[in-house]
Amino acid sequence: MHRGSCLCGAVRFEVNGTLPAPDACHCSQCRKQSGHFFVSTDVPRSAVTIHGADHITWFHSSEKVRRGFCNKCGSSLLWDKPEKDWIGIAMGAFDGPTNTKIHIHVHVANKGDYYDIDDGLPQRLH
Ligand SMILES: [Zn+2]
Repeated sequence: MHRGSCLCGAVRFEVNGTLPAPDACHCSQCRKQSGHFFVSTDVPRSAVTIHGADHITWFHSSEKVRRGFCNKCGSSLLWDKPEKDWIGIAMGAFDGPTNTKIHIHVHVANKGDYYDIDDGLPQRLH
């Protein structure tokens, strides 16, 4: 069981089972919404319990994707494509050890110019 929350604690969540290796997304939407690049783990919906869901505001960043953030403190928490049976959860929101590691960088064609990616992990342009 992994637990996490937004910064103010109004939104809390639990994930049953191990966390799949997250990806780091460098697209401009993820960078603008998170403030840097966005690292998230894609977990089965059935494994996730959310408390305080009424404090989540959803922003539709595209026709098929919505991004959930805490409407009290602004923490970026969720990346959701409702047609999928999984949901992306921001790694930074987890408490305690996550016991997982980033496995890939994606959308690096759109990365910011103010940092380098030099951890040796695979990089996908889109
Ligand atoms: Zn909050």
